[in-house]
Amino acid sequence: MQNKILLGPGPTNIDERVKSALSREPISHLDPDFFIVLDQISSSLRKIFQTKNKVTFTASGTGSSGMEMSMINLIEPGEKVLILKNGEFSSRMESLAQKLKADVSTITVEWGESFDQSFVIEKIKSIDNLKLVCAVHAETSTGVLQEIDLIGDFLKETEILFLVDAVTSLSGIDLRVDEWGIDSCFSGSQKCLSVPPGLAPITFSDKALSKIKKRNNLISSWYFDLEMLINYWGKDRVYHHTAPVNMLFGLNEALNISLDEGLNNRFERHKRNGEYFLSRLKKIGLQSFVNEDKFKSLPMLKSVLIPDRFNDKEFREKLLKNHNLEIGGGLGPTKGKIWRFGLMGFNSRKELIDNLFDTLEIYIN
Ligand code: PLP
Repeated sequence: MQNKILLGPGPTNIDERVKSALSREPISHLDPDFFIVLDQISSSLRKIFQTKNKVTFTASGTGSSGMEMSMINLIEPGEKVLILKNGEFSSRMESLAQKLKADVSTITVEWGESFDQSFVIEKIKSIDNLKLVCAVHAETSTGVLQEIDLIGDFLKETEILFLVDAVTSLSGIDLRVDEWGIDSCFSGSQKCLSVPPGLAPITFSDKALSKIKKRNNLISSWYFDLEMLINYWGKDRVYHHTAPVNMLFGLNEALNISLDEGLNNRFERHKRNGEYFLSRLKKIGLQSFVNEDKFKSLPMLKSVLIPDRFNDKEFREKLLKNHNLEIGGGLGPTKGKIWRFGLMGFNSRKELIDNLFDTLEIYIN
């Protein structure tokens, strides 16, 4: 199998430092030396999530396991939950909230659009006894950024919890868990952290923990039961499940890489390369799916309208076969209508964008 250049919505290619960490000899998940690694991961994640939350660790599973862990622990049957629905990943949160038998309301905008925060706050005010608001910070299915700081600011002063999917945003754009009043936030290893898929960094505020303590119903999961997992990641080190040790070695190194670069430098690099991508896109006459005049597109995920003359699937297959280059297609209503280009973490690099457009130009002009 050939190596590929991964410029789709994740996974990304990975740094040599991460490769060598992943390929270390395993040690036991109950070895005291491994506990040092767990503590390092929690400590680095606190810096990257910009939080002081004690309960900051990693779920064993892809980004979706972070969603499950957040929602399963925070939602009880019959509770009112509001979902900001503007793409595939917020639709998944709606579906999970329904499975958990919550009383679910949604507000909706078109795919490719984001919500006006004051509109969201008015909607929140209009729902009596609302318990939880769920939003996706970086909607990877469309490439739009949802600003959340004002919503979180408002929720801080209430009993309502705020749950944010930061699968694509973490370590690529500013995300301030404490300052923005986020109570539960999860991510995925394979996006801007540039680790293979399989881990979900996650954090819970004290407000979220006290809600979990006061639950009237048992949590309907064993694997994602936060109180049991805290006994492993916290000081008691009680065996829960066999932690994926080598993946955690890889994540630990990737977090070191992020912190060595510096968060702000990392955000700046993603921003600069996102802008460079748009300038090259303009030159070949293609158009962004997100209306850049009205909404903010993500620096790490650009969605582009496919010109009529292209067959989406055939074109992407050709790039893979002839150039070892992966780009993403659309999901749901955008299937066959957009391409999604990931410029995440290790792959947010000017030379990769130049290589991408040099290749696209062979077919587009
Ligand atoms: N949320 C967002 C915003 C995502 O982009 C993704 C994956 O692309 C997920 C959730 C689900 O993550 P995973 O596929 O790692 O389970």
